Amino acid sequence: MTDLFPPLDVGTLQLTYHLLALLLTAFSLAGALLAKGRYGLWFWVGCFASLALLQILAQAVLPDWSEHAGYLAGHVAGMLSSLCVLLGIRAYLGLPLYWKHGLALVLGAGSVCAALLAFGLPPRISLALSLFVSALLRWRAFSQLLAAFRRQGGAPMGFAAAVILLSVASHLVRTVALLSPLGESYENGFQSHGAGMLGLIVVLVLHGFVILLLVTHALQREVLSLAEHDSLTGLLNRRGMDARFERLRRRAALQGESGMSLALIDVDHFKSINDRLGHGAGDDVLKGLGALLDTQIRPTDLAVRLGGEEFVLLWNGAQPGYETAMAEKIRQAVANHPFETREGPVAVTVSIGVTGTVAHEDNLESVLRRADRALYRAKQDGRNRVAVDGG
Ligand code: GH3
Ligand code: MG
Ligand code: MG
Repeated sequence: MTDLFPPLDVGTLQLTYHLLALLLTAFSLAGALLAKGRYGLWFWVGCFASLALLQILAQAVLPDWSEHAGYLAGHVAGMLSSLCVLLGIRAYLGLPLYWKHGLALVLGAGSVCAALLAFGLPPRISLALSLFVSALLRWRAFSQLLAAFRRQGGAPMGFAAAVILLSVASHLVRTVALLSPLGESYENGFQSHGAGMLGLIVVLVLHGFVILLLVTHALQREVLSLAEHDSLTGLLNRRGMDARFERLRRRAALQGESGMSLALIDVDHFKSINDRLGHGAGDDVLKGLGALLDTQIRPTDLAVRLGGEEFVLLWNGAQPGYETAMAEKIRQAVANHPFETREGPVAVTVSIGVTGTVAHEDNLESVLRRADRALYRAKQDGRNRVAVDGG
């Protein structure tokens, strides 16, 4: 066994760490180029590059020139790397970066480190300060990931939050250890300690996994979103409505809300628009109608293009009568405002079939059937009108 696993010396571990950091820099660089900088990947390049390049500089180049410069470069590299983790997470979550605050913190702490070293304090004191600042930056990243995980769930987000929390803990443990009497024997930090180095390697590899998982997760969500939206209007499509209807119905049942109601909207004589002005102008009308419907709903409601020139609005938790008033408002809005098309403004009207409140035991099929029945009546009665099922 001992032959198979010879004891690893610290030098080998340090080399492994730097090679890993270089590899991760190369991988994240390739990813950032492929993804054109989306998902905050440039910051992860910065995170690994500052570890790889500045740490190598700190340990291999600068000490020949001045020992202080070597230490300082190492401290600043660690803090910059943590700042990049925070910015990478913020960019991934679509939050404002506030990078100036973070950079000011790193530069301020770097200046204090320089002063501490210049006054002849042992490097472990300035290292402890830089590790603490890193822990603060990573804590911000963790809390923002945790908030996102609570909001939208998803195992990758949870895993990422856990890994960042682990790195916060490792930074804090090293800070405290360096300041304790134990720290005197780790004058140069834990880089000169085998178990410490091994821990750093594990955390580094986990960071690589985090990026992989986060990017895969984002891609998966993008594909799902494409599959659930209509490309012409940007509204939900039938599949997207199916996925959400059950969830909304169950929630309404659980919360004992007044329930949901649904309207089926169909453009009158749409075929003649296509025939007279061409398919392109017809598409423009559909786009305009989609945009109008989207402005008429609240965040909890759904606007759907069911197919062709048929749309659905689904109101959630609405008071009885709300749906009829809204349907009438939409009918008038459409009738009074011609839609801009490539062939000039086109006046259209819509007929709308509305269901009363959806019962908790209803399924989407039966609700749509009721709305369709009402829509048929609206068409029969001369179009450009609202009809209520059972009304
Ligand atoms: P009614 O008042 O009875 O609803 O008459 P209509 O002409 O609107 O009804 P019909 O269902 O006969 O015609 C729907 C037309 O919608 C037929 C089809 O060519 C057109 N259509 C379906 N999808 C699209 C689309 O994506 N773009 C365009 N431009 N036309 C579409
Ligand atoms: Mg139709
Ligand atoms: Mg029609």
